Amino acid sequence: MYEFAVTPAVTQIRRRGVTITEVAPGTLGAELELEPGDRVLRVNGRAVRDYLDFRFQAGGETELTLGVLKRGGEEWEIEIERGEGEDFGLQFENIVPRQCANECLFCFCKGNPPDARPALSFRDEDVRLSFLYGNYTTLTSITEDEMRRVVEQRLTPQYVSVHATDLKVRAHLLGVDERRADISEKLRRMMDAGIEIHAQVVLCPGINDGEVLRRTVEDLAAEYPRVRSVAVVPLGLTRYNTDERLTPVTPEWCRKIIREVAALQRELRARLGSTFAFLGDEIYLRAGRGVPARAHYGDYPQIEDGVGMVRSFREEFARLMRRLEKRPPRDPSSLRGSVLTGTLFAPVMTDLIGRLNARTGARLKVVAVENRYFGPEIVVAGLMTGGCVLAAREQLEGDFVVLPSSARKSDEPVMLDGARLDELERQLGLPLRVLDFEGFARMVAGG
Ligand code: SF4
Repeated sequence: MYEFAVTPAVTQIRRRGVTITEVAPGTLGAELELEPGDRVLRVNGRAVRDYLDFRFQAGGETELTLGVLKRGGEEWEIEIERGEGEDFGLQFENIVPRQCANECLFCFCKGNPPDARPALSFRDEDVRLSFLYGNYTTLTSITEDEMRRVVEQRLTPQYVSVHATDLKVRAHLLGVDERRADISEKLRRMMDAGIEIHAQVVLCPGINDGEVLRRTVEDLAAEYPRVRSVAVVPLGLTRYNTDERLTPVTPEWCRKIIREVAALQRELRARLGSTFAFLGDEIYLRAGRGVPARAHYGDYPQIEDGVGMVRSFREEFARLMRRLEKRPPRDPSSLRGSVLTGTLFAPVMTDLIGRLNARTGARLKVVAVENRYFGPEIVVAGLMTGGCVLAAREQLEGDFVVLPSSARKSDEPVMLDGARLDELERQLGLPLRVLDFEGFARMVAGG
């Protein structure tokens, strides 16, 4: 039914088997003479498409038959008896993501510069990655196979971009017809099978805010706790997405959204015992407001979507300050450098670093890096590029530069515009320390 959504990526998903990339020495895999490059085709006669299949089909079984295509082309059938919980010691190739078939008004791909690296335009829509990494899917083109797999393998939770429960509005936002926009049956099927849903709304001024948003939150809240939470995050417009149907986010609009949603949240907390519908940090910061208290966020169900990150960061920072009070840094003079961040978070960071400097004698300076690549409307550190950092060079002070680890590609020492970190360091003429919060805490407090 949804064959138009089949892309080369899907073809690869359907390739036979999954390739082993590593075999840990001394493990069952090594004993079975499995090697990198071998493909596991079947477990107990059932086809394996990727490592999730392998995990699902082999997990918990003590007697197994593996069908393996050796890298030399030979096929092996291996009978195995293993101890309870004994690990194979195998690593597998990454999942090749399935691509989406939508044409969202606000798609980040439309916001890329014309010369952006192809990887920036990859539009994944994959229930496996949703389960594994919290990537959002719209479910508009999920196939029957995929649906069965979610249910059978219990790929829970699933993160779903709902945007609006009003079908006309959802169809308009996703650039699909209303029949495809309607995912009510698919959601119901997942929920009936015990799959937990975390929903997302990308809020576009004048399109899915106001009454549409209120209705969306209410409709989803009616399914609580099967729908566990809703993250409401603002549209992000780069200088390249100039679609006239989209209106940029303003501080006044953010304040209005906070007012309207706060009323809903109070009512939901009283009714459900959970805030349930959470606003993205960006909405509070753009509004010039403080973020809500710790208790507002519960167990931070959608922190990766920028919901509660600031509160969580403040909490971690407070813990660091308590540690520093008990055990100040041995050599505060070694803490003289610049800490880079996006323009949105810079005021919060400046406040926190100011306190840290005052308490410890460190001389750290926060530098707000304007986004020249995507445009000044893009304000988060994770989308900072090497070019943006170089443009802020004049503001750097001290003996080193701290770059937030979110600005680095997860698997390579490269930034979004392809700038290599070693080259950036050379051009800055200062050592670059790529740190997450833990790394930053270690740098300041040691140990
Ligand atoms: S679903 Fe995501 S990737 Fe696909 S068009 Fe919409 S925003 Fe872009």
